[in-house]
Amino acid sequence: MFDYLIVGAGYAGSVLAERITNELGLKVLVVDKRHHIGGNAYDTYNEHGILIHPYGPHIFHTNSREIFEYLSRFTLWRPYEHRVLASVDGQLLPIPINLDTVNKLYNLNLTSEELESWFAARAEKKERILTSEDVVVSKVGRELYEKFFRGYTRKQWDLDPSQLDATVTARVPVRTNRDDRYFTDKYQAMPLYGYTRMFENMLHHPNIKVMLGTDYREIVNLVPWRRMIYTGPIDAFYNFKYGKLPYRSLEFAHETLPQGWFQPVGTVNYPNEQPYTRITEFKHLTGQRHEFTSIVYEYPRAEGDPYYPIPASEPKAIYKKYEEEAKRETKVRFVGRLATYQYYNMDQIVGQALATFEKIKLELADESAD
Ligand code: FAD
Ligand code: UDP
Repeated sequence: MFDYLIVGAGYAGSVLAERITNELGLKVLVVDKRHHIGGNAYDTYNEHGILIHPYGPHIFHTNSREIFEYLSRFTLWRPYEHRVLASVDGQLLPIPINLDTVNKLYNLNLTSEELESWFAARAEKKERILTSEDVVVSKVGRELYEKFFRGYTRKQWDLDPSQLDATVTARVPVRTNRDDRYFTDKYQAMPLYGYTRMFENMLHHPNIKVMLGTDYREIVNLVPWRRMIYTGPIDAFYNFKYGKLPYRSLEFAHETLPQGWFQPVGTVNYPNEQPYTRITEFKHLTGQRHEFTSIVYEYPRAEGDPYYPIPASEPKAIYKKYEEEAKRETKVRFVGRLATYQYYNMDQIVGQALATFEKIKLELADESAD
């Protein structure tokens, strides 16, 4: 008898499996329909021996000491600060937009202070910041919005920024200094031996059994379990009874090139002309030395694996119905990016899983008091 059946071996499922076994001494079965652990953060060596991220580039960053220290139990780290350039008007310019972006794009020589007034003269006044368009035009004005954000967002989401929640483009700040790091979080690092090794360490416990290449539906009525933690898409769990939740997908085109390097930084974004949104070169992220280099192009797609919940009002209204149903479950908990339909980064999912573990402890304590 398993105390928990955990569906999904990504961050949500693996953190909970680790906590439930190591701290509570219970027995867990983790099942994933893919043939590997790690969920979308899975990494692997390709046929040339280069460490790649098959499901797109994953860069770890967090402001939470608790989350960083928790993961540090399972991996050593390689310090890494991600830098991104955007291909705009024939130049590669820093994104997030900063002082150098504007000076290079317009051949100016502004200081940080001057740039503040420059932005203020172009920014559109908004009573309320509701959409992803509002976020950007209210800071830098329409021209930069159109060069850096509008095309990229339409490609990525197949929606205009005016149809998307403010939270989407708010992920990318605007700066008046020369800081060209993509993230400014306190902790920025890559797992020294890769994400998959970190997940192996999390799941390495005599009370954790991992079953791969198996949809949970194949075994849910065969294997005895007391409670379930579900980290897959919530609409699939309920057989789409309130309709299909839209997820944005990507097609990844991986290439290995017989040259040392392809581009100057980890990622180059292509907001406008190209059909792909960005190209990432893995060796920048991993620090690996190799005579060849591996890159990945991301082509946004409507169909395919569900990668991104869509932060907009209609999908949220559908999700609310599933959420209400989920709240009434007594034996199943929903955790993770797909099960809670949240556009969350890795660290936020770790945080969500750790918070769920606290609730589980309370629930079990209440139960044993009865
Ligand atoms: P997942 O990793 O999706 O795991 C869910 C698992 O459940 C999957 O392995 C799936 O196979 C399994 N599953 C689903 N249904 C079933 C079923 N019926 N039966 C059995 N198994 C099932 N975050 C960052 O912090 N930094 C980044 O740089 C970053 N880059 C990203 C780039 C891309 C292209 C994408 C898509 C995401 C990125 N993220 C990044 C977000 C990160 O991937 C997620 O926050 C995190 O992986 C979510 O973990 P999870 O456990 O919720 O879900
Ligand atoms: N974005 C953009 N131009 C860019 C980078 C980002 O318009 O050069 C917008 C786009 O809508 C994107 C969102 O900001 O989906 C969030 O970007 P982020 O890099 O965080 O996306 P993720 O890594 O999650 O795919």
